[in-house]
Amino acid sequence: MEPSSPFRALAEAMEAVAQTSRKLEKVARLAGYFHTLEDEDLRTACTFLTGAAFPAGDARQLSVGWAALVQVLQELTGADDEALHDAYLRHGDLGEVAEELYPARRTAGPSQPLTLARVRAAFETIAAAAGKGSRGLKVATLKDLLGVATPLEAKYLVKIITSDLRVGLKTGLLEEAIAAAFAPAGEGRTADRRALLPPVRRANMLISHVGEVAVLARHGRLAEPALALFHPFHFMLAETIFAPEEAFEPLRGEEERQPALLVEDKYDGIRAQVHKGDGRIAIFSRTLDDITGSFPELLPGLEGFADRYIIDGEIVAWRGERPIAFALLQQRLRRKQPGRLVEQVPVVLFVFDLLHLGGADLLTAPLRERRARLEGLRFSGPVRPSSATVAEEPEHLAWRFREARDRGNEGLVVKRLDAAYAPGRRGRQWMKLKEELATLDVAVVAAEHGHGRRALVLSDVTFAVRDGDRLATIGKAYSGLTDREIAELTRWFQAHTTEDLGRVKIVQPAIVLEVAFDAVMESDRHDSGFALRFPRIKRWRHDKAAAEINTLDDVRRIYERQIVRPRAEDEAPDKRPQALGAGGGGYRPA
Ligand code: AMP
Repeated sequence: MEPSSPFRALAEAMEAVAQTSRKLEKVARLAGYFHTLEDEDLRTACTFLTGAAFPAGDARQLSVGWAALVQVLQELTGADDEALHDAYLRHGDLGEVAEELYPARRTAGPSQPLTLARVRAAFETIAAAAGKGSRGLKVATLKDLLGVATPLEAKYLVKIITSDLRVGLKTGLLEEAIAAAFAPAGEGRTADRRALLPPVRRANMLISHVGEVAVLARHGRLAEPALALFHPFHFMLAETIFAPEEAFEPLRGEEERQPALLVEDKYDGIRAQVHKGDGRIAIFSRTLDDITGSFPELLPGLEGFADRYIIDGEIVAWRGERPIAFALLQQRLRRKQPGRLVEQVPVVLFVFDLLHLGGADLLTAPLRERRARLEGLRFSGPVRPSSATVAEEPEHLAWRFREARDRGNEGLVVKRLDAAYAPGRRGRQWMKLKEELATLDVAVVAAEHGHGRRALVLSDVTFAVRDGDRLATIGKAYSGLTDREIAELTRWFQAHTTEDLGRVKIVQPAIVLEVAFDAVMESDRHDSGFALRFPRIKRWRHDKAAAEINTLDDVRRIYERQIVRPRAEDEAPDKRPQALGAGGGGYRPA
């Protein structure tokens, strides 16, 4: 094996980054560390710094279950279930648990220090393990790896294995550290760093492999990556907004509100990037996997556009003029060859962006121009342009929202006409509009154990609103709180259980949570007669008592005020009301 840098140096760098909130310090610490690494280690270290075992776009996965990891930690440290459970409740992070339990471990005597190459090789072995006996091989490999780790190394190995780094390190910061590390030395180092940042970002957008970008930056080869056919890149993403007015607001540094925005239906399907060239067509998923084989019926419609192009769109399960259940589409994805599913679950590809056409890259062209060119393509069969119109006022959006929902689509995606296509970025250039609804303050009445990594804690809560002097349940949620909050709440629930039903604990109704949701639905599931669609916990209202939570009357008012009033049963899309219009609305330029 090549000489390789100690894993300890990476763990120390991660720890240093976690311990400061100052961005420049983080950047400087990482830049200094990058200098010490050979190319292959630099690739690996950058990947691990994204909290992943493999680079984005690499199909390999560790697939190590929570139970397997816990088993290895217990075998190595001798911690029993209770000790592990207690430590987890204190930290809410398995990496920190490992660090705490490790010193008690008997060390196996002097051994080779862990290197980046060794960790890389172990991860490759784990990812390659398949079929019968694979769990045993994974556990043995993990045990070898963690068996030689120091407490700090174990902490960060576990964090990477669970893809849960949490050290306050975003991709943008990693890009800055790369620019700082490899800016040409000279008098104006800061100026050089600034100059190197845009090419670093651009290269990372195109190849989505921050480690490779670091190596290119070191060798002055950042200009090399280019948009290349059959090399899929990350998709541009949308930020959530809740009110139509928000869409028009100027961003920081801008003086004027947007005069006009492009408005499209938000289709509920799977994202697809299609590349065509050299007589070949390939469809890539959001995870950059090749999914062409699953959708053979789309290929004829994709032939006619041009000889060479890249488009972006959404594949939706669609019958007649309406979407059908998303779960059916997932069935198709699971099959390499769809067979009879082609007829049973028909699909449509709604195309909403054009990124390359006949040799010309359009990533930096404004959406206005990309969309106009897209409208000029020859669409046929199940390949269609997305419904797109231009809105100049918030009221247009409210109206378009209702129209999209009537067509059975999820809502709207609103896009700035002057924006370039920014791969992998989520921002206000694209916004998804959810209906503006008040949040509700609710009281927790029951708690139960979650699944997987949440199996040790009471993470799933049932909550209620007030109806006179009784509490009426209205929903259940398990996302939105931090692991630390969940650990703290678990302790509280354990101490305030009024009835223990085994998995479910009925608790004193004293914890108040603020929950957000997409809609209020009529439902028989809960005793309030209503249910929340996609409830998520926004925050724990330490400041509120159960006497102050929202009432069933409040819920009724929100329900009445909604633009669309669904019933829980309507969630099965076949039962949605009849179509009012076709999927496409036609583009009307501003
Ligand atoms: P979300 O998955 O909730 O973050 O919403 C963003 C996703 O909506 C995108 O990644 C697309 O897969 C999907 N989507 C549906 N319709 C559109 C559209 N017209 N424009 C952009 N994205 C869309």
